[in-house]
Amino acid sequence: MNNNIKVAFIGLGLIGGSIAKTIRKTHPSANIIALNRSSAPLEEALSDGVINAGTHEIDDNFKDCDIIFLCTPVETNTRFLPLLSEYLTPDTILTDAGSVKGEIHDAVSRLLPDAPFIGGHPMAGSEKSGYANSSDHLMENAYYILTPGPNAKDKQIKFYSDFVSSLGAIPMILSPEEHDYITGAISHVPHLIAYSLVKMVKDADGEDEHMKMIAAGGFKDITRIAGSDPTMWEQICLENRDNILSITDLYIDTLKELKSLVENRDSKALYSVFRDIKEYRSSFSTQPKGPIKKQFDLYCDIIDEAGAIATIATILSTSDISIKNIGIVHNRTFEEGALHIAFYDEESCSRACDILKRHNYKIYDSK
Ligand code: NAD
Repeated sequence: MNNNIKVAFIGLGLIGGSIAKTIRKTHPSANIIALNRSSAPLEEALSDGVINAGTHEIDDNFKDCDIIFLCTPVETNTRFLPLLSEYLTPDTILTDAGSVKGEIHDAVSRLLPDAPFIGGHPMAGSEKSGYANSSDHLMENAYYILTPGPNAKDKQIKFYSDFVSSLGAIPMILSPEEHDYITGAISHVPHLIAYSLVKMVKDADGEDEHMKMIAAGGFKDITRIAGSDPTMWEQICLENRDNILSITDLYIDTLKELKSLVENRDSKALYSVFRDIKEYRSSFSTQPKGPIKKQFDLYCDIIDEAGAIATIATILSTSDISIKNIGIVHNRTFEEGALHIAFYDEESCSRACDILKRHNYKIYDSK
């Protein structure tokens, strides 16, 4: 792959910033241009050496790009399309990182009917936003969905798919419709549910705010994504409206079904529904799927006292075991050990298990 590739970003936040940082790491001599509304991310990225030039408007910096990435909120991305027409050549791949694909495909076919557009959506991210939270490994081993438009030639799809692989992500080609239905179910409706759970507690809590005070690990875990950027989610909900409506209906039916089992005190049915769901949930893979090296984890109970982590680190290092990562699990309802230790290989992980057990630590592996 050509290392002297020229790429441009419109929007240098969490996702644009992470893709740009990954390109800088994997294609060091790439010429990377970025447009952003605010100056801070551009200044930071220039001083990090991540981008070569920053701008606040579409200008000649956008000439002769191999790839242009749209990385602002989904509806905002669409507003940039007409401004790009004079800078696109038949060889420029236009792509986006938006969480909804149907609308951007429609907009491209209306506003830039000849553009070789390949929609993109890295299935990685977080509830945090902005360049300051971006990283050069956000997409490692993450699925990266590609939705090629009708003008994208086979060789461009192959080039772009190889490019995504070169960033350490796993390309997966879907139609825009498939993408929007799938992400509606696994991401968009879950965000609505997270927002609604937090609202339910806000509405149900008394003046003393005991619910808010006590809400801990479990509740915080399932509502973490309710901390996401409101502008981004307002735009996603409107762009994927039809899928979100039908999947929300499906969810309401499921909730009603569970409610009626509780109402009817049907303990047998409740147990069997919970058991089936638990079984299905545990079949979700937790190991990375892609080319980046796996890590091997164990969890262990430690007493919360000064030097507890240092003691474990010393025990392992005197046995010549390298630790990839070590840290406290910040979730007080986590029942499988308060310390997480990651290793580079399976053998180190299993030796560490044995050694720590011999030192009377309670150990849990990550499976
Ligand atoms: P973000 O808020 O971190 O970044 C957006 C950037 O765009 C910011 O730097 C902002 O200043 C800039 N911006 C916004 N409006 C602009 C405008 N009118 N002109 C110029 N710059 C503007 O958001 P993000 O999380 O990076 O999301 C970007 C895109 O990626 C969205 O389309 C989102 O759907 C998609 N996405 C997000 C995630 C996630 O978890 N956050 C995951 C995958 C895809």
